[in-house]
Amino acid sequence: MLTVEEAIEDILRAVRPLETERVEVVAALERVLAEPIVSRREIPPWDNSSMDGYALRAQDTATGSVELAVVGRVAAGEMPSVTVRAGQAMRIFTGAPMPEGADAVIPQEDVDADGDRLKIRSTIEPGAYVRPRGEDLHIGETVLEAGHVVGPAEVGMLATLGFPQVRVYRRPRVAVLSTGNELADLGTEPTAWQIPNTNTYSLMAQILEAGGEPIGLGVEPDRLDAIEARIRTAHAADALVCSAGVSVGEMDFVKEALTRAGAELKLWRVSMRPGKPITFGSLDGRPVFGLPGNPVSAMVTFELFVRPTLRAMAGHRHLHRSRIRARALAQIPNPGHRRGYLRVTLTPDGRGGYGARLTGEQGSAILRSMVLADGLAVLAGDMVIHEGEEVEVIVLRELSA
Ligand code: AMP
Ligand code: MG
Repeated sequence: MLTVEEAIEDILRAVRPLETERVEVVAALERVLAEPIVSRREIPPWDNSSMDGYALRAQDTATGSVELAVVGRVAAGEMPSVTVRAGQAMRIFTGAPMPEGADAVIPQEDVDADGDRLKIRSTIEPGAYVRPRGEDLHIGETVLEAGHVVGPAEVGMLATLGFPQVRVYRRPRVAVLSTGNELADLGTEPTAWQIPNTNTYSLMAQILEAGGEPIGLGVEPDRLDAIEARIRTAHAADALVCSAGVSVGEMDFVKEALTRAGAELKLWRVSMRPGKPITFGSLDGRPVFGLPGNPVSAMVTFELFVRPTLRAMAGHRHLHRSRIRARALAQIPNPGHRRGYLRVTLTPDGRGGYGARLTGEQGSAILRSMVLADGLAVLAGDMVIHEGEEVEVIVLRELSA
Protein backbone atom coordinates (compact mmCIF):
# COMPACT_ATOMS: atom_id res chain seq x y z
CA MET A 1 0.00 0.00 0.00
CA LEU A 2 1.30 3.48 -0.91
CA THR A 3 1.56 6.31 1.54
CA VAL A 4 -0.35 9.48 0.68
CA GLU A 5 2.96 11.27 0.05
CA GLU A 6 4.14 8.59 -2.39
CA ALA A 7 0.85 8.80 -4.26
CA ILE A 8 1.00 12.61 -4.48
CA GLU A 9 4.59 12.44 -5.68
CA ASP A 10 3.64 9.91 -8.37
CA ILE A 11 0.79 12.10 -9.58
CA LEU A 12 2.71 15.36 -9.64
CA ARG A 13 5.57 13.77 -11.55
CA ALA A 14 3.15 13.20 -14.43
CA VAL A 15 1.66 16.70 -14.44
CA ARG A 16 2.81 19.73 -16.46
CA PRO A 17 1.53 23.30 -16.53
CA LEU A 18 -0.98 24.01 -19.30
CA GLU A 19 -0.29 26.51 -22.06
CA THR A 20 -0.63 30.24 -21.45
CA GLU A 21 -3.11 32.87 -22.59
CA ARG A 22 -3.51 36.62 -22.48
CA VAL A 23 -6.37 37.89 -20.31
CA GLU A 24 -7.68 41.27 -19.15
CA VAL A 25 -5.89 42.28 -15.95
CA VAL A 26 -8.89 41.86 -13.62
CA ALA A 27 -9.53 38.37 -15.03
CA ALA A 28 -5.93 37.53 -14.07
CA LEU A 29 -6.87 37.51 -10.37
CA GLU A 30 -5.55 34.33 -8.68
CA ARG A 31 -3.90 33.24 -11.91
CA VAL A 32 -0.18 32.63 -12.30
CA LEU A 33 1.92 35.03 -14.38
CA ALA A 34 3.59 33.39 -17.35
CA GLU A 35 5.82 36.41 -18.06
CA PRO A 36 7.85 38.76 -15.90
CA ILE A 37 6.42 42.26 -15.59
CA VAL A 38 8.96 44.99 -16.25
CA SER A 39 8.13 48.60 -15.53
CA ARG A 40 7.76 50.77 -18.60
CA ARG A 41 7.12 53.86 -16.49
CA GLU A 42 8.58 55.96 -13.71
CA ILE A 43 6.03 55.83 -10.87
CA PRO A 44 5.29 58.48 -9.81
CA PRO A 45 6.16 60.19 -13.10
CA TRP A 46 7.33 63.41 -11.40
CA ASP A 47 7.99 64.75 -7.91
CA ASN A 48 4.60 65.56 -6.41
CA SER A 49 3.01 66.74 -3.20
CA SER A 50 1.60 64.27 -0.67
CA MET A 51 -0.39 67.02 1.10
CA ASP A 52 -2.59 70.02 0.47
CA GLY A 53 -0.34 72.97 1.40
CA TYR A 54 2.38 75.19 -0.03
CA ALA A 55 5.43 74.25 -2.10
CA LEU A 56 8.52 76.23 -1.09
CA ARG A 57 12.31 76.24 -0.90
CA ALA A 58 13.36 74.53 2.33
CA GLN A 59 16.39 76.81 2.77
CA ASP A 60 14.07 79.85 3.01
CA THR A 61 12.82 78.43 6.34
CA ALA A 62 16.30 77.94 7.84
CA THR A 63 15.79 80.68 10.44
CA GLY A 64 12.55 79.09 11.62
CA SER A 65 10.37 82.15 11.02
CA VAL A 66 9.73 83.63 7.58
CA GLU A 67 7.14 85.33 5.40
CA LEU A 68 6.74 84.14 1.78
CA ALA A 69 4.85 85.48 -1.23
CA VAL A 70 2.38 83.05 -2.82
CA VAL A 71 3.04 83.28 -6.58
CA GLY A 72 0.67 80.66 -8.02
CA ARG A 73 -1.45 77.60 -7.55
CA VAL A 74 -1.23 74.03 -8.83
CA ALA A 75 -3.74 71.19 -8.38
CA ALA A 76 -3.61 67.51 -9.43
CA GLY A 77 -4.10 67.35 -13.17
CA GLU A 78 -2.26 70.61 -13.86
CA MET A 79 1.36 71.58 -14.53
CA PRO A 80 2.87 74.48 -12.48
CA SER A 81 3.09 77.60 -14.61
CA VAL A 82 5.88 79.46 -12.79
CA THR A 83 9.13 78.76 -10.97
CA VAL A 84 9.30 79.24 -7.20
CA ARG A 85 12.16 81.60 -6.36
CA ALA A 86 13.74 82.67 -3.05
CA GLY A 87 11.11 84.20 -0.78
CA GLN A 88 8.24 82.61 -2.72
CA ALA A 89 5.80 79.70 -2.30
CA MET A 90 3.07 78.10 -4.43
CA ARG A 91 -0.33 76.84 -3.30
CA ILE A 92 -0.30 73.08 -4.03
CA PHE A 93 -2.72 70.15 -3.65
CA THR A 94 -2.17 66.43 -3.09
CA GLY A 95 -0.88 64.70 -6.21
CA ALA A 96 0.05 67.94 -8.00
CA PRO A 97 3.52 68.12 -9.63
CA MET A 98 6.10 70.09 -7.66
CA PRO A 99 6.91 73.42 -9.27
CA GLU A 100 10.44 74.18 -10.46
CA GLY A 101 12.56 75.68 -7.69
CA ALA A 102 10.56 74.24 -4.78
CA ASP A 103 11.88 71.21 -2.87
CA ALA A 104 9.47 70.83 0.06
CA VAL A 105 5.82 71.21 1.01
CA ILE A 106 4.37 72.63 4.19
CA PRO A 107 0.88 71.36 5.04
CA GLN A 108 -1.81 74.05 5.00
CA GLU A 109 -2.66 73.46 8.68
CA ASP A 110 0.89 74.51 9.66
CA VAL A 111 0.82 78.02 8.11
CA ASP A 112 -0.88 81.36 8.57
CA ALA A 113 -2.10 82.42 5.12
CA ASP A 114 -3.36 85.92 4.47
CA GLY A 115 -4.16 86.56 0.81
CA ASP A 116 -0.91 85.97 -1.04
CA ARG A 117 1.21 86.31 2.12
CA LEU A 118 2.28 83.21 4.04
CA LYS A 119 3.72 83.15 7.58
CA ILE A 120 5.78 80.12 8.56
CA ARG A 121 7.10 79.51 12.07
CA SER A 122 9.10 76.32 11.70
CA THR A 123 12.03 74.88 9.80
CA ILE A 124 11.09 72.65 6.87
CA GLU A 125 13.40 69.83 5.78
CA PRO A 126 14.18 69.49 2.06
CA GLY A 127 11.93 66.77 0.61
CA ALA A 128 9.21 67.17 3.26
CA TYR A 129 5.84 65.90 1.94
CA VAL A 130 7.32 65.38 -1.52
CA ARG A 131 6.86 62.01 -3.25
CA PRO A 132 9.90 61.82 -5.53
CA ARG A 133 9.73 60.72 -9.15
CA GLY A 134 10.34 56.96 -9.44
CA GLU A 135 9.90 56.42 -5.68
CA ASP A 136 7.66 53.38 -6.38
CA LEU A 137 9.07 52.13 -9.68
CA HIS A 138 11.79 52.87 -12.19
CA ILE A 139 11.69 52.13 -15.91
CA GLY A 140 13.27 48.73 -16.59
CA GLU A 141 12.77 47.42 -13.06
CA THR A 142 11.32 43.88 -12.80
CA VAL A 143 8.22 44.34 -10.71
CA LEU A 144 6.77 40.81 -10.80
CA GLU A 145 8.48 37.55 -11.68
CA ALA A 146 6.92 34.87 -13.86
CA GLY A 147 5.26 32.36 -11.53
CA HIS A 148 3.92 35.09 -9.27
CA VAL A 149 0.25 34.73 -8.29
CA VAL A 150 -1.87 37.76 -9.18
CA GLY A 151 -3.75 39.39 -6.31
CA PRO A 152 -5.65 42.68 -6.21
CA ALA A 153 -2.44 44.70 -5.66
CA GLU A 154 -0.83 43.07 -8.71
CA VAL A 155 -3.92 43.95 -10.78
CA GLY A 156 -3.51 47.58 -9.67
CA MET A 157 0.19 47.42 -10.48
CA LEU A 158 -0.49 46.14 -14.01
CA ALA A 159 -2.94 49.01 -14.53
CA THR A 160 -0.40 51.52 -13.15
CA LEU A 161 2.13 50.24 -15.64
CA GLY A 162 -0.36 50.52 -18.49
CA PHE A 163 -0.82 46.84 -19.30
CA PRO A 164 -4.49 46.19 -20.23
CA GLN A 165 -3.76 42.47 -20.53
CA VAL A 166 -1.28 40.03 -19.13
CA ARG A 167 -0.08 36.53 -19.99
CA VAL A 168 -1.06 33.85 -17.47
CA TYR A 169 -1.37 30.06 -17.37
CA ARG A 170 -4.66 28.67 -18.52
CA ARG A 171 -7.16 27.38 -15.95
CA PRO A 172 -7.65 23.63 -16.25
CA ARG A 173 -11.06 22.56 -17.61
CA VAL A 174 -12.05 19.56 -15.55
CA ALA A 175 -14.82 17.12 -16.45
CA VAL A 176 -16.71 15.47 -13.59
CA LEU A 177 -18.53 12.17 -13.97
CA SER A 178 -20.57 10.46 -11.26
CA THR A 179 -21.54 6.83 -11.63
CA GLY A 180 -24.01 4.59 -9.83
CA ASN A 181 -27.40 2.97 -10.47
CA GLU A 182 -28.60 4.41 -7.18
CA LEU A 183 -28.07 8.08 -8.08
CA ALA A 184 -30.89 10.54 -8.72
CA ASP A 185 -29.49 13.75 -10.15
CA LEU A 186 -30.33 17.18 -8.85
CA GLY A 187 -33.77 18.16 -10.16
CA THR A 188 -35.27 14.68 -9.89
CA GLU A 189 -36.70 13.40 -6.63
CA PRO A 190 -35.00 10.14 -5.57
CA THR A 191 -37.28 7.10 -5.91
CA ALA A 192 -37.59 4.49 -3.16
CA TRP A 193 -34.21 2.88 -3.94
CA GLN A 194 -32.28 6.01 -4.96
CA ILE A 195 -30.01 8.49 -3.18
CA PRO A 196 -29.26 12.05 -4.31
CA ASN A 197 -26.18 12.72 -6.43
CA THR A 198 -23.90 14.73 -4.18
CA ASN A 199 -20.45 14.26 -5.61
CA THR A 200 -20.92 15.94 -8.98
CA TYR A 201 -21.71 19.15 -7.19
CA SER A 202 -19.20 19.08 -4.34
CA LEU A 203 -16.47 18.14 -6.83
CA MET A 204 -17.44 20.88 -9.31
CA ALA A 205 -17.30 23.38 -6.45
CA GLN A 206 -13.91 22.05 -5.34
CA ILE A 207 -12.64 22.40 -8.91
CA LEU A 208 -13.80 26.02 -8.99
CA GLU A 209 -12.21 26.70 -5.62
CA ALA A 210 -8.95 25.14 -6.84
CA GLY A 211 -8.89 27.54 -9.79
CA GLY A 212 -10.28 25.18 -12.44
CA GLU A 213 -13.32 25.32 -14.70
CA PRO A 214 -15.68 22.42 -14.00
CA ILE A 215 -17.60 20.64 -16.74
CA GLY A 216 -20.44 18.48 -15.43
CA LEU A 217 -20.88 15.19 -17.30
CA GLY A 218 -23.91 14.16 -15.26
CA VAL A 219 -24.60 10.69 -13.92
CA GLU A 220 -24.13 7.33 -15.63
CA PRO A 221 -25.48 4.02 -14.36
CA ASP A 222 -23.16 1.15 -13.45
CA ARG A 223 -22.82 0.00 -17.07
CA LEU A 224 -19.47 -0.34 -18.75
CA ASP A 225 -20.59 0.84 -22.22
CA ALA A 226 -22.45 3.87 -20.83
CA ILE A 227 -19.53 4.98 -18.66
CA GLU A 228 -17.02 4.44 -21.46
CA ALA A 229 -19.15 6.43 -23.93
CA ARG A 230 -19.48 9.31 -21.49
CA ILE A 231 -15.74 9.34 -20.75
CA ARG A 232 -15.13 9.64 -24.50
CA THR A 233 -17.16 12.87 -24.55
CA ALA A 234 -14.65 14.52 -22.21
CA HIS A 235 -12.10 15.34 -24.91
CA ALA A 236 -12.47 19.12 -24.47
CA ALA A 237 -11.37 18.78 -20.86
CA ASP A 238 -7.81 19.00 -19.54
CA ALA A 239 -8.54 16.51 -16.76
CA LEU A 240 -11.27 14.07 -15.77
CA VAL A 241 -12.55 13.26 -12.28
CA CYS A 242 -14.85 10.26 -11.85
CA SER A 243 -16.43 9.27 -8.58
CA ALA A 244 -17.57 5.87 -7.34
CA GLY A 245 -17.25 2.50 -9.03
CA VAL A 246 -13.49 2.20 -8.48
CA SER A 247 -13.36 -0.65 -5.96
CA VAL A 248 -13.03 -4.27 -6.94
CA GLY A 249 -16.73 -5.17 -6.76
CA GLU A 250 -18.45 -6.66 -9.78
CA MET A 251 -20.45 -3.40 -10.07
CA ASP A 252 -17.33 -1.26 -10.32
CA PHE A 253 -16.78 -0.36 -13.98
CA VAL A 254 -14.93 2.96 -13.89
CA LYS A 255 -11.41 1.54 -14.17
CA GLU A 256 -12.38 -0.78 -17.00
CA ALA A 257 -14.26 2.00 -18.80
CA LEU A 258 -11.31 4.37 -18.46
CA THR A 259 -8.96 1.71 -19.84
CA ARG A 260 -11.27 0.99 -22.77
CA ALA A 261 -11.44 4.72 -23.52
CA GLY A 262 -7.64 4.65 -23.81
CA ALA A 263 -6.45 5.62 -20.34
CA GLU A 264 -3.31 4.20 -18.83
CA LEU A 265 -4.06 3.65 -15.17
CA LYS A 266 -2.03 3.20 -12.07
CA LEU A 267 -4.23 1.43 -9.61
CA TRP A 268 -3.59 2.16 -6.06
CA ARG A 269 -4.33 1.28 -2.60
CA VAL A 270 -3.36 4.34 -0.61
CA SER A 271 -3.07 4.01 3.12
CA MET A 272 -5.58 6.60 4.22
CA ARG A 273 -8.97 6.98 5.74
CA PRO A 274 -11.33 8.11 4.41
CA GLY A 275 -10.33 7.48 0.85
CA LYS A 276 -9.19 4.10 -0.24
CA PRO A 277 -9.54 3.10 -3.11
CA ILE A 278 -8.52 5.67 -5.67
CA THR A 279 -7.12 5.41 -9.15
CA PHE A 280 -5.02 7.78 -11.22
CA GLY A 281 -3.76 7.68 -14.76
CA SER A 282 -3.56 9.55 -18.01
CA LEU A 283 -5.86 9.71 -20.99
CA ASP A 284 -4.20 11.26 -24.06
CA GLY A 285 -1.72 12.93 -21.72
CA ARG A 286 -4.43 14.37 -19.49
CA PRO A 287 -4.72 13.35 -15.85
CA VAL A 288 -7.71 11.17 -14.90
CA PHE A 289 -8.84 10.32 -11.41
CA GLY A 290 -11.23 7.72 -10.10
CA LEU A 291 -12.27 8.84 -6.62
CA PRO A 292 -14.23 6.82 -4.09
CA GLY A 293 -18.02 7.23 -4.06
CA ASN A 294 -18.65 8.14 -0.47
CA PRO A 295 -19.11 11.91 -0.41
CA VAL A 296 -16.53 12.60 2.31
CA SER A 297 -14.00 10.24 0.72
CA ALA A 298 -14.50 11.94 -2.64
CA MET A 299 -13.94 15.38 -1.14
CA VAL A 300 -10.93 14.40 0.96
CA THR A 301 -9.18 12.57 -1.88
CA PHE A 302 -9.91 15.56 -4.11
CA GLU A 303 -8.24 17.81 -1.53
CA LEU A 304 -5.15 15.64 -1.25
CA PHE A 305 -4.62 14.49 -4.85
CA VAL A 306 -6.71 16.46 -7.35
CA ARG A 307 -6.35 19.97 -5.97
CA PRO A 308 -2.53 20.01 -6.12
CA THR A 309 -2.72 18.54 -9.62
CA LEU A 310 -5.03 21.29 -10.85
CA ARG A 311 -2.85 23.93 -9.22
CA ALA A 312 0.26 22.52 -10.91
CA MET A 313 -1.59 22.58 -14.24
CA ALA A 314 -2.48 26.24 -13.61
CA GLY A 315 1.22 27.04 -13.12
CA HIS A 316 1.22 27.35 -9.32
CA ARG A 317 4.37 26.48 -7.39
CA HIS A 318 2.65 26.49 -4.04
CA LEU A 319 0.44 23.43 -4.46
CA HIS A 320 -0.68 22.36 -1.03
CA ARG A 321 -2.91 23.74 1.69
CA SER A 322 -1.17 25.20 4.69
CA ARG A 323 -0.94 23.18 7.88
CA ILE A 324 -0.99 24.34 11.46
CA ARG A 325 -0.43 22.68 14.79
CA ALA A 326 -3.53 22.93 16.96
CA ARG A 327 -4.26 21.70 20.46
CA ALA A 328 -6.88 19.00 20.88
CA LEU A 329 -9.86 20.26 22.90
CA ALA A 330 -10.96 16.66 23.42
CA GLN A 331 -9.55 13.27 22.53
CA ILE A 332 -9.04 12.61 18.77
CA PRO A 333 -8.66 8.89 18.10
CA ASN A 334 -7.68 7.28 14.81
CA PRO A 335 -8.49 3.59 15.15
CA GLY A 336 -7.18 1.30 12.42
CA HIS A 337 -3.73 1.24 10.88
CA ARG A 338 -4.36 3.67 8.02
CA ARG A 339 -3.41 7.36 8.14
CA GLY A 340 -6.47 9.31 9.25
CA TYR A 341 -7.80 12.62 7.92
CA LEU A 342 -10.30 13.57 10.57
CA ARG A 343 -12.67 16.48 10.23
CA VAL A 344 -12.17 19.08 12.94
CA THR A 345 -13.36 22.53 13.87
CA LEU A 346 -10.66 25.07 14.69
CA THR A 347 -11.38 27.61 17.42
CA PRO A 348 -9.05 30.51 18.28
CA ASP A 349 -7.55 29.98 21.75
CA GLY A 350 -6.99 33.69 22.38
CA ARG A 351 -3.21 33.29 22.36
CA GLY A 352 -2.72 33.16 18.60
CA GLY A 353 -3.25 29.40 18.37
CA TYR A 354 -6.20 27.14 17.69
CA GLY A 355 -8.04 24.36 19.45
CA ALA A 356 -9.17 21.36 17.38
CA ARG A 357 -12.25 19.27 18.02
CA LEU A 358 -13.79 16.46 15.98
CA THR A 359 -16.89 17.57 14.08
CA GLY A 360 -18.76 14.50 15.33
CA GLU A 361 -19.27 11.16 13.61
CA GLN A 362 -16.51 10.61 11.08
CA GLY A 363 -18.17 8.12 8.73
CA SER A 364 -17.13 8.62 5.11
CA ALA A 365 -20.77 9.09 4.09
CA ILE A 366 -21.42 11.78 6.72
CA LEU A 367 -21.13 14.92 4.62
CA ARG A 368 -22.07 17.06 7.58
CA SER A 369 -18.59 16.36 8.92
CA MET A 370 -17.21 18.27 5.93
CA VAL A 371 -19.75 21.07 6.23
CA LEU A 372 -18.62 21.66 9.82
CA ALA A 373 -14.92 21.15 9.21
CA ASP A 374 -12.38 23.98 9.27
CA GLY A 375 -9.62 21.46 8.71
CA LEU A 376 -8.44 17.88 8.50
CA ALA A 377 -6.47 16.58 11.47
CA VAL A 378 -3.73 14.27 10.22
CA LEU A 379 -3.12 11.24 12.44
CA ALA A 380 -0.91 8.23 11.97
CA GLY A 381 -2.61 4.86 12.14
CA ASP A 382 -3.63 3.50 15.55
CA MET A 383 -2.95 6.84 17.16
CA VAL A 384 -4.83 8.76 19.82
CA ILE A 385 -4.32 12.46 20.43
CA HIS A 386 -5.34 13.22 23.99
CA GLU A 387 -6.93 16.41 25.18
CA GLY A 388 -4.32 19.18 25.38
CA GLU A 389 -1.88 17.49 22.99
CA GLU A 390 -0.85 18.99 19.69
CA VAL A 391 -2.16 17.72 16.37
CA GLU A 392 -1.30 18.64 12.80
CA VAL A 393 -4.23 20.11 10.85
CA ILE A 394 -4.64 20.85 7.14
CA VAL A 395 -6.50 24.15 6.99
CA LEU A 396 -9.47 24.07 4.61
CA ARG A 397 -10.97 27.50 5.09
CA GLU A 398 -10.06 30.96 6.26
CA LEU A 399 -9.97 31.00 10.05
CA SER A 400 -11.32 33.66 12.33
CA ALA A 401 -8.65 35.18 14.55
P1 AMP B 1 -18.89 2.97 -4.66
O1 AMP B 1 -17.53 3.56 -4.66
O2 AMP B 1 -19.52 2.96 -6.01
O3 AMP B 1 -18.92 1.65 -3.98
O4 AMP B 1 -19.76 3.95 -3.78
C1 AMP B 1 -19.53 4.07 -2.39
C2 AMP B 1 -20.70 4.77 -1.73
O5 AMP B 1 -20.81 6.09 -2.21
C3 AMP B 1 -22.05 4.13 -2.00
O6 AMP B 1 -22.80 4.15 -0.81
C4 AMP B 1 -22.67 5.00 -3.03
O7 AMP B 1 -24.06 4.99 -3.03
C5 AMP B 1 -22.14 6.35 -2.64
N1 AMP B 1 -22.05 7.27 -3.79
C6 AMP B 1 -21.50 7.00 -4.97
N2 AMP B 1 -21.57 8.03 -5.81
C7 AMP B 1 -22.21 9.02 -5.13
C8 AMP B 1 -22.61 10.34 -5.48
N3 AMP B 1 -22.35 10.87 -6.68
N4 AMP B 1 -23.26 11.07 -4.54
C9 AMP B 1 -23.52 10.54 -3.32
N5 AMP B 1 -23.15 9.30 -2.95
C10 AMP B 1 -22.52 8.54 -3.84
MG1 MG C 1 -21.20 2.08 -6.78
